[in-house]
Amino acid sequence: MTMNNQNVPPAPATHANAANPLNPVSPQAVGVDASAAAGAYAEAASGTTFTGASSGKQRIAVLGAGPMGLAVAYQLARDGHEPVIFEADDRIGGMTASFDFNGLHIERYYHFHCISDHAFLKVLDELGLADKMHWTETKMGYYYKGKVVPWGNPVALLKFPGLSLIAKFRYGLHAFLSTKRNDWKPLDNVEASSWIRRWVGKEAYEVLWRRLFEYKFYNYANNLSAAWIWSRIRRIGRSRYSLFREKLGYLDGGSNTLLKGMRTDIESHGGVFRLKTPVTRVRMEDSVVKGVETPEGFEAFDKVISTIPLPLVSRVMPDLPQDVLAKFGSMHNIAVVCIIAKLRKPVSENFWLNINSPEMDIPGLVEYSNLRPMPHHIVYVPYYVPGEHPLYQEPDAHFIEKVKRYLQTINPDLVEEDFIDIKASRYRYAQPICEPSFPARLPDVALPVKGLWAADTSYYYPEDRGISESIDFGRKMARQAAA
Ligand SMILES: Cc1cc2nc3c(=O)[nH]c(=O)nc-3n(C[C@H](O)[C@H](O)[C@H](O)COP(=O)(O)OP(=O)(O)OC[C@H]3O[C@@H](n4cnc5c(N)ncnc54)[C@H](O)[C@@H]3O)c2cc1C
Repeated sequence: MTMNNQNVPPAPATHANAANPLNPVSPQAVGVDASAAAGAYAEAASGTTFTGASSGKQRIAVLGAGPMGLAVAYQLARDGHEPVIFEADDRIGGMTASFDFNGLHIERYYHFHCISDHAFLKVLDELGLADKMHWTETKMGYYYKGKVVPWGNPVALLKFPGLSLIAKFRYGLHAFLSTKRNDWKPLDNVEASSWIRRWVGKEAYEVLWRRLFEYKFYNYANNLSAAWIWSRIRRIGRSRYSLFREKLGYLDGGSNTLLKGMRTDIESHGGVFRLKTPVTRVRMEDSVVKGVETPEGFEAFDKVISTIPLPLVSRVMPDLPQDVLAKFGSMHNIAVVCIIAKLRKPVSENFWLNINSPEMDIPGLVEYSNLRPMPHHIVYVPYYVPGEHPLYQEPDAHFIEKVKRYLQTINPDLVEEDFIDIKASRYRYAQPICEPSFPARLPDVALPVKGLWAADTSYYYPEDRGISESIDFGRKMARQAAA
């Protein structure tokens, strides 16, 4: 899913991420087998066909304990293998990890779920955690011309201030037709912003799209795959359980409930975790993988499966063939600085709030406590920005000061004393940038070294990154790698 605010198309509307096609997250569309779709996309994108059989007990190193690495280890352990999970951080979870927000254990980055997150819901079921899942009817809004107005359904679009009827119609038509399209391939080598401009016209693009592109992708905004953006629009269109209502899910205890459940299951099936143990090099000889090097030394393995962000792969696998290294080296990623605020008062009644204001350099915010009941009002404001951009070099205080100002502008009732606490978290590789013809640039997940596999969230293109997609992909990759 993506900055969360949502640029919701008119007609059908949304699901969380869905709300804004550029939203950071990417939950799936309601009524659509998104996991299956993601798997199919992944296969198409990577050129890999996941088959599934597995044989003989193998000792396999898994790099990264985010949802994908956990899913790999979970599948391997359940299939009778011996996964050893190496995680650089002091905790499992990657982007879904939690922290102590002064007494509140909560994710560094907001997470919500959709009823089409099949792979995620299946694991919950297998772990006996299905009763921890709850569904809430959520609202979406748009902060535009100094006011919060409803957003995310056809009536909201019609009533949206300051847009001509023809602009609304073109915006709605594009969203509607996008939901009817099933084949992403013709859009794969098309540039997204010009594709949208052609359809919706200059006026609707300026008001409803431009800032989403610019405040999420900066210098990459005009070189994104239309298939990647389309998959979000389509998801939006299929994500509501009625034209006017959306229901999103959360777990009791947040993503940590899933993480703990998976870890316990992996360990009970013989898997081993090595936290604070970054893999510094994958050792390979004569095109056969031998094992991994960490600050603790060398450990031999039958196979190695990496789920760390692709831009880091070349660093830990410098012995790969040059053409493969060049492919990994050409991948770009967006970083995130995510501000989380604990408040005495709500900002608004919306879960998603899209923002188009010349005074604010953000495309939206997520008021998480409007999804999951919390002791205080919790708001996340993500700043997506390329890691090499000067903005990313600014200290946390820079973002915190702006966010406090913006929240008080959106809701003038909020005063300084209403801010109980506010913190920033950063993730350097928060999302791949999928340019036109993206799949052609991805190396195969089965690398040209026997026993060595590597993938990250890029591999389920054109789907956006998501917990369910990472789980689905990870389980399939594990089966294939162990076969
Ligand atoms: C702001 C934000 C909001 C989001 N909202 C949602 C949402 O609402 N719903 C949803 O489904 N998804 C959401 N997501 C996406 C979701 O968090 C990701 O899709 C998911 O976490 C990806 O998991 P992964 O395991 O593929 O990658 P990661 O979570 O990135 O895991 C990679 C792991 O590799 C580790 N690592 C890196 N280098 C090394 C090394 N050398 N050795 C060992 N370990 C290493 C990292 O520390 C990390 O733990 C959101 C993400 C962000 C940033």
